Amino acid sequence: MLLEERIAQARANIARAAAEAGRDPGEITLAAATKVQTSETIRAAIAAGITVCGENRVQELTAHLEDYAYDGARVHFIGHLQTNKVRFVVGRVDLIESVDSPRLLEAVQRQAEKLNLVQDILLEVNIGREESKGGCLPEDLPALARQAAALSHVRLRGLMAIPPAAAAPGDNRRFFAATRQLFVDIRSQIGDNDTDIDCLSMGMSDDYEDAVREGATLVRLGTALFGPRPPRAPEG
Ligand SMILES: *Cc1c(COP(=O)(O)O)cnc(C)c1O
Repeated sequence: MLLEERIAQARANIARAAAEAGRDPGEITLAAATKVQTSETIRAAIAAGITVCGENRVQELTAHLEDYAYDGARVHFIGHLQTNKVRFVVGRVDLIESVDSPRLLEAVQRQAEKLNLVQDILLEVNIGREESKGGCLPEDLPALARQAAALSHVRLRGLMAIPPAAAAPGDNRRFFAATRQLFVDIRSQIGDNDTDIDCLSMGMSDDYEDAVREGATLVRLGTALFGPRPPRAPEG
């Protein structure tokens, strides 16, 4: 299948899942998870209608920015972010989806202040409580959200979550529902900002339809758009 066809297929699946849940498909954004893809492939995806690219390694982000590969689309950082690499990301992406600690939040604030801008962020929640995964624990989220809301150069836009790899289709639905509940709670707790908190990023190639059924406003698809990725060594 061509990239255009895969994108159309994903959009059709999103629209169907949204309709099943009584949602407007227009409130759901399809982001392309572009890790390991070349600048050429990224340009082709944008030419085919992709409006958001999600990048999860600082090195690839930097290389593609230097290449102007994302021109015409918004860019999200979706991977684990080390505090010492914050300067390569803040101000260079539209949204950092993976803020998960007080320390990282402070580092983003400091760099954004230095650049005199306001950085949009999501807080990442480790909804499956997996040791191997990033994200804050659900019980730590309210304090982190209050901290984010109080920072002058950070704007909290919502939550991101990556549930455990599902053994069977449908297994992740309860994690998506739990994330959605946290999102609703945070929105009501951070009263002043509630019009800014509008993004719930969850769902990947294997489970995005369930994520949409449970309220996702942003899904991040890699394999479903670009095909299987070659294996790659973990980040050092
Ligand atoms: C790779 C990646 C995705 C997309 O994964 P697929 O299963 O290929 O759709 C989504 N989100 C994040 C954070 C990723 O790193």
